Amino acid sequence: TTGLSKENIEAAINDAYNANKDSKEGKNADYIKELANVDPNIYGIALVTADGTVYTKGDLDSRVSIQSISKVFTLARVIEEHGAKYVMDKIGVDATGLRFNSIVAIELQKGKEINPLVNPGAIAAVSLVNGADSAAKWKNILQTHDEFAGADLQLNGPVYISEAGDNLRNQAIAHLLLAYGRMYFDPVQSTDVYTKQCAINVNARDLGIMAATLANGGVNPITKKKVVSPETTAFTLSVMATAGLYDDSGQWLYAVGLPAKSGVGGGIIAVCPGKFGIAVISPPLNAAGNSVKAQKTIYDIVKKLNVNPYLVQ
Ligand code: GLN
Repeated sequence: TTGLSKENIEAAINDAYNANKDSKEGKNADYIKELANVDPNIYGIALVTADGTVYTKGDLDSRVSIQSISKVFTLARVIEEHGAKYVMDKIGVDATGLRFNSIVAIELQKGKEINPLVNPGAIAAVSLVNGADSAAKWKNILQTHDEFAGADLQLNGPVYISEAGDNLRNQAIAHLLLAYGRMYFDPVQSTDVYTKQCAINVNARDLGIMAATLANGGVNPITKKKVVSPETTAFTLSVMATAGLYDDSGQWLYAVGLPAKSGVGGGIIAVCPGKFGIAVISPPLNAAGNSVKAQKTIYDIVKKLNVNPYLVQ
């Protein structure tokens, strides 16, 4: 039996859950102090089809900070507001091939081609989002995340405070971009709004629905609200395919074949366009900053469901 029947999806999720639940590989992020305190045993899976059926397994109650997965939704908003070419001209879309918080990447490129899914391009994306001041930008960004999730998402206060007091590296990134004429709003405030967006709290179900909205051409399959256009969604997914897992993005696409995005809070989303979005949360990370268990779980499910779009049999 093949295909995306209810039985197959449930079996794929159960098998992957059981195969990976006892893995202890990886380590919580600790460069943001509060993330070291998150329970490493949180393990939740949500697969949401493009027509709105929700399949879940494991821990759906625990929320973690969205971290870098937020970069996807802010990028989508900026493309929606200003167009694909604008993002290409003002930020760039080629992968840096370097760590997500690399300053060298900016220096090498003189601020060009800094990529919206790693820190420099993501802070630049925040600086470009509509909103006359930082409060308006934050409101726009939070509302975008709410619409993708179909929920009133909340800020994780302790994670925000912890990172805001300790984000000198991201502040340096924003200032270096400004020096190269590639920061389009106050660098301190842009970094602050960026830090806030990274601290939005989500559970696996929220992330699954956000991913499913991308799988469904920008229409939330639960609320039926159009969040962004199909064209914006396609451009966003393309950047996810080439840069969604930082400097391991090539390895990921090689193994799984689906656009995805990770965050150091332990979440990963992946999107099978037209079919489903999937999200897994498990905080322990590998050296590149990607959740070990979430990667393995998504890999197992995609393999079982046989949905690698590059695989034609
Ligand atoms: N807020 C984190 C940072 O800027 C996000 C990084 C991530 O998830 N890779 O370092």
